[in-house]
Amino acid sequence: MIVFDLQCRDGGETFEAWFRSSADFDEQRGAGLVQCPVCQSANVAKAPMAPSVPRKGAGNPLAKLAAMQAELLKSSRWVGNQFADTARKIHNGEIEPEQVHGSATMEQAKSLVDDGVPVAPLPLPVTPPNQVN
Ligand SMILES: [Zn+2]
Repeated sequence: MIVFDLQCRDGGETFEAWFRSSADFDEQRGAGLVQCPVCQSANVAKAPMAPSVPRKGAGNPLAKLAAMQAELLKSSRWVGNQFADTARKIHNGEIEPEQVHGSATMEQAKSLVDDGVPVAPLPLPVTPPNQVN
């Protein structure tokens, strides 16, 4: 199946229609079976297609996500592999509450969620600030 953007030659309306193939469209149109849904005119043609040029400034979605995450972590402290421990202590009121992020094993993360500690996976991997490349 293919979809065509069609335009009514009488009223100028544009609409979409599905056909088995391009030849099927030609055949149906030739037989007057392709009609404008607004004025029922059979005088329709393929609408000129707009070239799909990416909008300027739309940006790379991954870059947007990275920027969002950076914003999210601006007030958050990296605690590395102490994350599970720290998050649990904060949850239990044992230490001063603060925004933290770090690494946790799948097991630790599951255990935190099971215990009702509000944690969320980050969309992108974080480079620890003290990591030396
Ligand atoms: Zn029409």
